[in-house]
Amino acid sequence: MIYKHVETNDEKPGHFCGVIGIYSPAEINIPEKLFFPLFALQHRGQESCGIAYRKGERIVAYKDLGMVSSVLGRYLKEDRPSRIGIGHVRYSTSGGNKLENAQPMVANCNKGEIALAHNGNISNTQDIKAGLFAEGSIFQSTSDTELILHYLSRLQGRDFIEALTETLIHMEGAYSLVMIRGETLIGIRDPFGFRPLYYGTKDGMSVFASETCALDILQVTDYRSVEPGEMLIVDSSGTRSVRFGQPREKRQCVFELIYFARPDSRMFGQSVHLARKRMGAALARADRDRGFSEADMVLPVPDSGNSAALGYAQEAGLPFDLGLTRNHYTGRSFIMPTPGQRELAVRMKLHPVRDILQGKRVVLVDDSLVRGTTSRIIVKLIREAGVKEVHVRLSAPEIKWPCFFGIDVPTRKELISNQLSPQEIARHIDADSVSFLEEPRLRECLPDPENFCYACFNGKYPVKVSLND
Ligand code: SF4
Repeated sequence: MIYKHVETNDEKPGHFCGVIGIYSPAEINIPEKLFFPLFALQHRGQESCGIAYRKGERIVAYKDLGMVSSVLGRYLKEDRPSRIGIGHVRYSTSGGNKLENAQPMVANCNKGEIALAHNGNISNTQDIKAGLFAEGSIFQSTSDTELILHYLSRLQGRDFIEALTETLIHMEGAYSLVMIRGETLIGIRDPFGFRPLYYGTKDGMSVFASETCALDILQVTDYRSVEPGEMLIVDSSGTRSVRFGQPREKRQCVFELIYFARPDSRMFGQSVHLARKRMGAALARADRDRGFSEADMVLPVPDSGNSAALGYAQEAGLPFDLGLTRNHYTGRSFIMPTPGQRELAVRMKLHPVRDILQGKRVVLVDDSLVRGTTSRIIVKLIREAGVKEVHVRLSAPEIKWPCFFGIDVPTRKELISNQLSPQEIARHIDADSVSFLEEPRLRECLPDPENFCYACFNGKYPVKVSLND
């Protein structure tokens, strides 16, 4: 594994990426068309973004560090006729917020010109890279996406799809890919299906996207999931499906439903918002089962706790209110060197509404707890606003293990749940109580619980990984 956790003030695990791909039988303004769904996927990565599209016989790419509106806004001003393009938003890893790691990656090799965008993480990167280095490969980035291109170009004398299939068979871990090769657009999802990828059509146009919210913005209503281990090949002759690799048991990332995906997306066969509401309701039932009922109202930590808090309130029959408001213009807060600056960063983002909090016993619902530093500040904020009691509820189980499949989770020793019990966490963050949604109850919230990965909660990884910490 080549990535390390990136240090930020953020309490949440970080998502690595979102992808989009568009094919149109007639020329349209592809760069402009890519802008809107990428904008809709901005929550999946805010560090860099880019697009690649066919212009005549060549692939043109533009990428930079920054948000979609600032980097790609230029494409709203001019008509650039094309039939095929892909795009990417990226969340960077430690030492990785560099332009050379931005995507799509474009390579000119013995397979022709290829553009590739990747969501996920190849978990056997080190083994493959060591072999390629030994054979003289030169890498320009630290991204595992480049590895796929290197591997592919080494396989000579074979049909392109055959070479691609063989490459994918050697890649372990999580990958949802979109690729341009010649006049062909290809969408691929790994055999476990860790990361989502959707495919839809509208008026002859074919679209791949990490989430359905990105299809919605193009008004693509006819769509389906790319199946685990499926490659969809789109060209002038239509769309064909190719299966590759050994059929595996599905291991879709449950954290997509808990936190990463946008609540208006449908993912893994369900509405993300409704799945989160079920998780909140399950938290309320767990409280009822343990005899806890001493609260006046339910508050979300916005925006990540909104849906679960609503589910909790409805199940518990308690009022739901917005006791914290969020300033959406602060962006992602980079590591602040002192505790005082870290507190200021949270105060810039979240603001208590004193008039509804004063004298209240509140259930404060969020999705997950990583280090506990932000939660401690949030509890302090609402205590300052006059709450009498704070009961923190998390709609994820305790995170105890790193992720090797495209999510940035701190090392084991940095995870608060490996250091403290929920009671000790409550004391640490100055809450009256803290409890997590236990894994069996989380499974009950899913119609097909056996199809999900829970490895960051229970350490049961679907593929072999090397744990270093
Ligand atoms: S380890 Fe956790 S974050 Fe990573 S894929 Fe599995 S459920 Fe998702």
